Amino acid sequence: MAFTGLYMKKRRSPVVIAAPHDGDDMDSCCDGNSGLIAGRLADHLGATLVLARNLRRLVDVNKDPETSSDPRLAEWRRHYQRCVFQSSPLLLMEIHGHVSGNFDLEISTGYAGIDSLYRRRLACYHQAVLSALDRTWQPGGPLAAIKKPTLGVFPLDCRVRLRATKTYTFQLVRALRLLGYPCYGLHVEIHRYLRLPPPEGPDVHEALAAILAAGINCFLPGQ
Ligand SMILES: [Zn+2]
Repeated sequence: MAFTGLYMKKRRSPVVIAAPHDGDDMDSCCDGNSGLIAGRLADHLGATLVLARNLRRLVDVNKDPETSSDPRLAEWRRHYQRCVFQSSPLLLMEIHGHVSGNFDLEISTGYAGIDSLYRRRLACYHQAVLSALDRTWQPGGPLAAIKKPTLGVFPLDCRVRLRATKTYTFQLVRALRLLGYPCYGLHVEIHRYLRLPPPEGPDVHEALAAILAAGINCFLPGQ
């Protein structure tokens, strides 16, 4: 999808999938292919999709608008937050890319002091993703030539490096929960080798979307 700005595909769903650092510059300024993976994941879940493309060089949209001295850049941030929160989601997932985490897949709630219900649901999701990784990366399976990703989930595992504790989006999720609104947030960091695999290889993006979709019901009502 080649454009610059914000894109939103609305669906009637309690889940929002967002990629705030997507873009055509695959390897330096942007989280290359994060939008593609977010789109596949949103399709799996029937979820709303929000993409911010080619904006990272200009503005980091998931930071606090009040910390930008340029009103035009602050407005991009407000616009992104409105897109993400306007449907009052019960679960928000942001898809990012990294090269420096301690795990190939790092998932964080964005703050350490989650309540006991949040912790139980996060542990349930952690187990579901681990099981999906085992199923997908079976010996001799189609993905066997690609390294099986390691997984860390914060705050269950404090070795996770990319915790998103300064990310405004997840501070808003925390504030909503403190006010009694049952909202959850997951910040997902995917290592470069999984986002930018060899083009002739297996469809790693589809596998990642299915793995991240596994157990998402842990965060939804009735579980
Ligand atoms: Zn990012």
